[in-house]
Amino acid sequence: MSRLTVGQEEAPAKLGPGLVEVAVTYCGICATDTHNYTSGGQIPASVFGHEWTGTITRTAEDVEGLPAGTRVIASVGAACGVCAMCQAGHAEHCDLAFAEANGLAPGSPTHGAFAQSLIVTARRVMPVLDGLSDIEAALVEPTAVTFHAVRRTRQPLGAVVVVQGAGPIGLLAAQHARHAGAGQLVVIEPNAQRREAATKLGFTDVLAPGEAAQARVLEISNGLGADVLYECTGVAALLQPSAELVRRGGTLSLLGFPMTDSTVSYGDWQLRELTVIGSLAYTRDDFLGAQRAIADGSVRVADLHTATIGLGDLAAMLDELDSGKTEQAKVLLDPRR
Ligand SMILES: [Zn+2]
Ligand SMILES: [Zn+2]
Repeated sequence: MSRLTVGQEEAPAKLGPGLVEVAVTYCGICATDTHNYTSGGQIPASVFGHEWTGTITRTAEDVEGLPAGTRVIASVGAACGVCAMCQAGHAEHCDLAFAEANGLAPGSPTHGAFAQSLIVTARRVMPVLDGLSDIEAALVEPTAVTFHAVRRTRQPLGAVVVVQGAGPIGLLAAQHARHAGAGQLVVIEPNAQRREAATKLGFTDVLAPGEAAQARVLEISNGLGADVLYECTGVAALLQPSAELVRRGGTLSLLGFPMTDSTVSYGDWQLRELTVIGSLAYTRDDFLGAQRAIADGSVRVADLHTATIGLGDLAAMLDELDSGKTEQAKVLLDPRR
């Protein structure tokens, strides 16, 4: 039995201050949505359907610079300047922008963008860069997640890089790592279809996990191990094996979100002086950078799109994505269908 119901909500006659109404063009489905569905709604309602693009239909009187007809994407606002983090000089970790990214900010909508329209704060939208298609615009959000991680990792130019996992996040992280000047890049992924997707994006060292992959990393690094490893699977049991592919003094960058605790060898990490970078979501500049990387062709996102569905197909698609037996990469929902 489906755990989803489709309902109707009356749009307000007048928008509250600072709000805009967006007609949704596409909303991408991501692992967070699937987890939320299978766990029975554990995340804030507005996060269920957070990778959206659409067109402004109405704005509150006090909103400037976003006329009706503007194509926009979901983003987060700029650092607010007044929260405790901003006041302490940590604008990069603004409490308000963080709350927006997690669907907990004041003015968050009562539902996500698996809907025909959405009312959000003007802070949360960003105009689509010229030249991006609607499908590319719908993929900016996960692109911003991975852009953020690679930016935070400060990957050295020419580095030996390993990307663990070639789902949508891994494929995007690998492209940003290449764009950021990786010298050699190995993608490790057990699923043959996903390996093929990586190959299509121009990656040549694409291997199944195991001894051959390990040997290849050692071969291209003079036996040292990777300078940087991006962990994009979220599989808790892989944290230690991933760390062991990193050279002494190298960096383990965490993107995949593990749903369970993990046992790692803390002594090993300390002994080899690993740098561990945690990365979640993004700041507003990541959305600009991600859009520019898509616009200039450095990061190809449309290739990740494998299907478009309507609202009525959402439950079945979430079941399929949850089963693990899916050939889909990025599925978009078109609520106009
Ligand atoms: Zn997502
Ligand atoms: Zn702030």
